[in-house]
Amino acid sequence: MAKGSIIKVAGPLIVAGGMQDARMFDVVRVSNSRLVGEIIELRGDKASIQVYEETAGLGPGEPVESTGAPLSVELGPGLIESIFDGIQRPLTTIYEKTGDRIKRGVEVPSLSRERLWDFVPKVSEGDVVGPGDVIGTVRETVVVEHRIMVPPTVSGTVVSIEQGEYPVDKVVCVIKDEQGNEHQLQMFQRWPVRQGRPYREKLAPKQPMVTGQRVIDTFFPIASGGVAAVPGPFGSGKTVVQHQLAKWADADIIVYVGCGERGNEMTDVLMEFPELHDPRTGESLMKRTVLIANTSDMPVAAREASIYTGITIAEYYRDMGYKVAIMADSTSRWAEALREMSGRLEEMPGEEGYPAYLSSRIAEFYERAGVVNCLGSDSRLGSISAIGAVSPPGGDISEPVSQATLRIVKVFWGLSAQLAYSRHFPAIDWLQSYSLYVSSMSEWFDENVGADWNVLRQKAMDILQRESELNEIVRLVGIDALSREDRLTMEAARSIREDYLHQNAFDDVDTYTSLEKQHLMLNLVLQYDKLGHQALKDGASLNVLLSLPVRDQIARAKYIEEKDLQQFEQIEKELSEQMAQLTQEEGR
Ligand code: ADP
Ligand code: MG
Repeated sequence: MAKGSIIKVAGPLIVAGGMQDARMFDVVRVSNSRLVGEIIELRGDKASIQVYEETAGLGPGEPVESTGAPLSVELGPGLIESIFDGIQRPLTTIYEKTGDRIKRGVEVPSLSRERLWDFVPKVSEGDVVGPGDVIGTVRETVVVEHRIMVPPTVSGTVVSIEQGEYPVDKVVCVIKDEQGNEHQLQMFQRWPVRQGRPYREKLAPKQPMVTGQRVIDTFFPIASGGVAAVPGPFGSGKTVVQHQLAKWADADIIVYVGCGERGNEMTDVLMEFPELHDPRTGESLMKRTVLIANTSDMPVAAREASIYTGITIAEYYRDMGYKVAIMADSTSRWAEALREMSGRLEEMPGEEGYPAYLSSRIAEFYERAGVVNCLGSDSRLGSISAIGAVSPPGGDISEPVSQATLRIVKVFWGLSAQLAYSRHFPAIDWLQSYSLYVSSMSEWFDENVGADWNVLRQKAMDILQRESELNEIVRLVGIDALSREDRLTMEAARSIREDYLHQNAFDDVDTYTSLEKQHLMLNLVLQYDKLGHQALKDGASLNVLLSLPVRDQIARAKYIEEKDLQQFEQIEKELSEQMAQLTQEEGR
């Protein structure tokens, strides 16, 4: 192992000499307090090291020792329900141990060595196994069956296999390979975070990841295995969108990376998630969630690592055959950490001081998402959907992080300051946003939601687009210039915005809408437009049409509980009756 000493300390970056035997990306221990760092540049015998802990008080001459291994995470039972920092130190355990925030240099394993797991074998002595094969399972939480897999580099014949309650570091299976070497498999494996975990084949995403958020599922759906970005200025609702997805998205496993944002946003997650129940399983949402917290008050270098730690954990559950969703809030804060480290390395700065490799790093993160055919002989499928919040200064997305992100993601949920200001939430701008998955998933929606789904969706979008044109006219020449038909269209658009798109994340019922209910709601809102235009043709009065009593019920339809969806039928009946009455009165 390389051993050297500190030459210079510059904030989170230190330079050490005598490191000629070290390798790029080796993890090192710095000073007698054994702070964790990683070599990010090697020149001759000098290593530049980003340190994941506070470097205050360090000085030249103190020892630096390479561990000879790259930055890695522990993957095994106990990940779910944990809260880790950017380099996978278990915050809750450390808190219990030291009664405080992380002390420098503490050495606590990421996964508890005390907790016991009931290992149920799935192979027998003499079986031939290879990478990704499931050798046994552990019930990690009430909703997650943890599949213990043969690591990607091992194959051979099972020599022994255990059954019973053990800690994660117990050898539960011994495999002998063709060369006669024995591999002792524990219930956990290590994996370097900067390297994607292998799979057999990447497939095109075809199914939506249903989020229960109407503007997303209806207009800008994300595929299961898809990639999306949520850019928006401060206060426009990025964090709420990320939280809503973490809570309600139809995924088996959630990895939530709180990256450089305020600590209280993480506290919100910690307080709320245990209380919330997954609509599919009825169990607490924490039972399927892994949290990674590197808030703004924590060391900046660990923030850089946090999204790799997160995506590696996501890949591990994907490899088991699960649908995983990862949220990173915010990738801009992550990019700022990258910029800070690059500045300290005195690299040639690119646009706005970001390093020239900003785009490729962002791409590397999102490219680890996708639907894959996993390793393992049972040819299971797994997926990772990745959603990154982007916080461009002043909300101007022409800046480098937004631009680099938009080049790679397929869904863009653009948050608008103006919508947020007028309290239209989620403030996703329907005219700016897009989803490139719409056409590849339209068949799925047709089959699973309703044959008219795509037509309704397009109709609603057309009305909103028409509204924006009409708004322009109104701005120029006043509302009186509009025809009765156009006035009605404006009303229909308002109904789409207020009765449909506007969704209160903090209302018990409104917070989540199933696709079935979205279909019923959208149909109802558009029915008003359709029957209304017919009524106008038949001579109904516009004013009466605008103040139809049933409109109140349409507006409140979002508060109908999932178990009471039959109520929609009643409202629709009411709507047709009131419309019919209008034209009868007129005809009399
Ligand atoms: P950002 O992360 O972009 O700075 P937040 O996600 O913290 O913004 O949102 C700011 C505030 O906007 C929230 O505290 C909340 O009051 C309001 N808000 C955002 N989205 C919603 C929503 N879907 N429903 C209700 N209120 C919302
Ligand atoms: Mg936020």
